Amino acid sequence: MRVVQIHGPNDVRVDEAPKPVVGPYDVLLKIDACGVCGSDLTFAKYGFQREGGEPWPLGHEASGTVVEAGNKVEGIAPGLRAVINPTGAYDNIIGNGGSEGAFADYLLIRNAKLDVHLLPLPEGMSAERAALVEPMAVALHGVNRGNVSVDDKVVVFGAGPIGLGAVFWLKRRGVKNIVSVDLSEARLAIARDLGATATVNPSKTDLNEALGELHGITAPVMGKPTVGTDLFMDMAGGPTVLESIIKIAQFHARIVLTAVYAAPVSLDLQTMLLKEISMTTAVSYPDELPDVLATLAQISEQDIKPYVTHRFAFEEFASALQTAKEPTSGKVMVYFD
Ligand SMILES: [Zn+2]
Repeated sequence: MRVVQIHGPNDVRVDEAPKPVVGPYDVLLKIDACGVCGSDLTFAKYGFQREGGEPWPLGHEASGTVVEAGNKVEGIAPGLRAVINPTGAYDNIIGNGGSEGAFADYLLIRNAKLDVHLLPLPEGMSAERAALVEPMAVALHGVNRGNVSVDDKVVVFGAGPIGLGAVFWLKRRGVKNIVSVDLSEARLAIARDLGATATVNPSKTDLNEALGELHGITAPVMGKPTVGTDLFMDMAGGPTVLESIIKIAQFHARIVLTAVYAAPVSLDLQTMLLKEISMTTAVSYPDELPDVLATLAQISEQDIKPYVTHRFAFEEFASALQTAKEPTSGKVMVYFD
């Protein structure tokens, strides 16, 4: 069977590997669809290796069909269609440094437990929709950590798959004022389709001025103007994003950080102090998977359509990876036959 593995910086290969042997507590899943994640691109760029220098199997946003289940596995039988929880257990990390990755024809899930490692799909749910559960859960966790209320004026920095997911959830929460910020016009168009009430491209428009117009100008702090944004969500991770947020944030503004910063950044803590800014971080999805699965099963195709912009067969994996790097793409989906 084929498996995608990282062998070094920018050295991602589709390798041949023997089909895994299924132990009494294990399950073998035939992968149906798997999305390309921003973290996959980061792992590939830096050439992440497993302990001992072994290649790093890639892929964690996957859905599939059970083809084999060990005789000690409870509640999971061949034919079950499911989405994987790639962080399902400490010894069962998929595509994030574990021994298995989901960009593969088959995925071995060790010590597989129903609702822990595999969440069954509701009747009729497509493989693609199911493969969106993981990234949409990351986005929802960010929104949950932001304690958002409908009257909050929100800015989402970054309109990649996570930022777009946040826009989707904010709209579903009934938030009335959602501004999406990105340098890509194509991504901003997707954000508008998913529910952003306004978009700003800082390469074309002065962001501070735009936010002043969209969220109002609020009382100056230390003589400096501030804007009426209640919640800033940093889902972009640009080197100056946090700095610019702190500069224009009003008294008691909140920041949620989900972006991965590869290097430390300096923060103006004095200004944060005087504005009593609260900042929190959000990573992964400790509780969100079941809710996201239920919601994505219910919504109409129209609600989520703009989110997936490109689809590739597994044979075209290199193109899928390349496309996900382009700032014009939303979610890039890989299909297996
Ligand atoms: Zn992901």
